[in-house]
Amino acid sequence: MSTTHNQPRAELLLHRGVIRTMDPANPLVEAIAIGGSRILAVGSMATLEALCGPATRRVDLGGRMVMPGLIDFHMHLLTSMTIRLYSTPLDPADDFAAVLAKVGAAAQAPSGREWVTAGPYGPAALAAMEQPGALAALDAVSHGRPVSLTHVSGHGRFANSVALARAGITASTPDPQDGEIVRDAAGQPTGLLHETASWPVRDAIPALNAAEMLDVARQAMRYLNGLGLTGFCDASATLDMLRTFRALEDEGGLTCWAGFNLALSPTSMGYDAAEAAELRRNRKALCGPHMVADFAKIFLDGVPSLRTAAMLEPYATAPASEPPIAMTLDVQQLAEAIADFDAEGMGVKVHAIGDRAVLTVLDAVERVRARNGAGVQHQIAHGQFIREQDIPRLRKLNVLADMNPPLWFPNSASLTHERVVGKARYARAWPIRDILASGADIAVGSDWMTISPDLDPWLSLCGMVTRRDGTGRFPGAHRPEQALSLEQALPLYTRNPARAMRLGDRTGQLSPGLSADLIVLDRDLMSIDPMAIAGTQVMATLFEGRLVHGGF
Ligand SMILES: [Zn+2]
Repeated sequence: MSTTHNQPRAELLLHRGVIRTMDPANPLVEAIAIGGSRILAVGSMATLEALCGPATRRVDLGGRMVMPGLIDFHMHLLTSMTIRLYSTPLDPADDFAAVLAKVGAAAQAPSGREWVTAGPYGPAALAAMEQPGALAALDAVSHGRPVSLTHVSGHGRFANSVALARAGITASTPDPQDGEIVRDAAGQPTGLLHETASWPVRDAIPALNAAEMLDVARQAMRYLNGLGLTGFCDASATLDMLRTFRALEDEGGLTCWAGFNLALSPTSMGYDAAEAAELRRNRKALCGPHMVADFAKIFLDGVPSLRTAAMLEPYATAPASEPPIAMTLDVQQLAEAIADFDAEGMGVKVHAIGDRAVLTVLDAVERVRARNGAGVQHQIAHGQFIREQDIPRLRKLNVLADMNPPLWFPNSASLTHERVVGKARYARAWPIRDILASGADIAVGSDWMTISPDLDPWLSLCGMVTRRDGTGRFPGAHRPEQALSLEQALPLYTRNPARAMRLGDRTGQLSPGLSADLIVLDRDLMSIDPMAIAGTQVMATLFEGRLVHGGF
C-alpha cells in the first residue's frame, strides 16, 4: 500500500487482534483502520501503518477477537422492550405463592406507571387461581394498584379487583362472544378472564405515549448494543413504530441498522386499512438513513404450542375430531398478495411454520415468479417443519429462510413444541444444515420475545453450533447432525441478514468502505469449547466508528 498526502488518515487503529471479517476474500486479519464512520483498511499492522499519523488513536487488542456487529433478523423490538421495562417477569413454572411474592414486590416498588403487569404464569399458578380466595390473595398484595397477569398462552389473564373495576367488569357483565368471565358460586368474577373476556383489561391499561415510546427505543438501543447487536429487523412494524424509530434517528440515537417488515396485510394482528395505506405510501419518507422499510409481512399460519401451525399430518396431541388447521389465505390468495408487493419491489416475509404452510408459500412464490419474472427476494419466517423435498425450492425460487436458533436446542419452548407435534416429527424440525447445503439463503433471528424473555445472541450461537442448551439447564441435544460449524453460523448472523435487508454494501462484514460496525469479544469463539460461546461478553461495540457500548 502506498501513501500519499491525499490518503485518508486513520482516526482509530485496532491492532494485535484476531479480527474475523466475514469477508470470504480476506477472512482473518490482525489490524483494522477506521476513519470517521467507515473502515479504511484491514490487514497486517505493517500495511496499515501507512494510514496512521500522530493523531491516530491506537488500541492494542491484546489478542482479542473482533467481528462485525451481529444483526438479529427477526424480532419485535418495541413491544418486547416495553414488556422488559414495564412488566414483572414470571416463570411459567412458578406456583401461585411465587407469583404473589413477585407481584407483591412489584406493587410496592415505586414506578412511573400505576398498573402492575406481570407474566407469564403457567399451569401450576393457574390451578390455584381457580380456587376460592385467589382473588382476595392477589388483592392483598396489590397495594391498591390495578394488577393484570398474563397467561403463558397469551390467551387469558388474571386481574385483581381494581383492574376488573377499571375494565368495567362486574357480576352483571355478560360473557362476550368467544370469551368467559370466570365466576364463583355467588356469580362474582374471580379475576380469571379467558380469551376475548380479557380484552377489556388489556384495553384499560394506558398505552405508552410518544415520549415514553421514544424512551423505550433509546433503552432498546443500549440493550442491543450491549449484547453486540448493530442491526435488527422488526418482523411486524406499524406506523407508530416507524415514527418512533425515526424520532430516535433524528436525535442521533439510532445506533443499529433497522429493517422493517411492515404490517400491511389484513392477516397482521391489529391491521388497520387506513394506517397501512399511509405506511405503504410514505414508507421511504418515514425512514431515516439507517432505516429500510421495503418489506411487508403476511401471516399464513399460527404456532405449534396452540396447534395452529398448519401441518400435513394431525398433531400428536390433537383430539381425533380436530379439523385441519385453516390458514389465513389459500395458495392463490397468497400468490396475489405477494405479487402485489413484488411488483412494487417490496420483499415479503411470510410467517409459515407447519410443513403445509411452508409448501403453500413455495407454491405461491412459484406462481408469482411465473407472473412477475425473477423479482425481489421473498422470505419464509420460521419454516420450522419444512419437508426434505421442499428444501431445494428455496434456492430455486429465491426465498430466504428466516430461522430462529432459540428453538434449535432443548429448552422449555422447544420441548413444548416437541410434545405438541410428537417426537418423530420434531426429530425432522429445523434441518438447517440441509438447507445450507442446498445453497439456499438463510438469516437468523431470535423472534424476541415470542420464544424467550431474554434476547441472548450468544446462547443462540452456541445452540447453532452444538444444538445443546448453553445454560446447562436442559440436557441432551436436538438433531446434533444438523449443527453448523462456526464458519457456517456466523454469516447467518452478520453478512446474510445485512444483504437480505438490502444493506450488504453498507454493513455485515469488515471490509474497506463499509460502515465500521464491529464488536470486541472477551474470547476467541474459534479457539474455545463451543459450549463456552454461550457466556460470551461483549467488551466494546462500535457503530459507524462510534463507541456505543463498553470501551477499550
Ligand atoms: Zn415474530
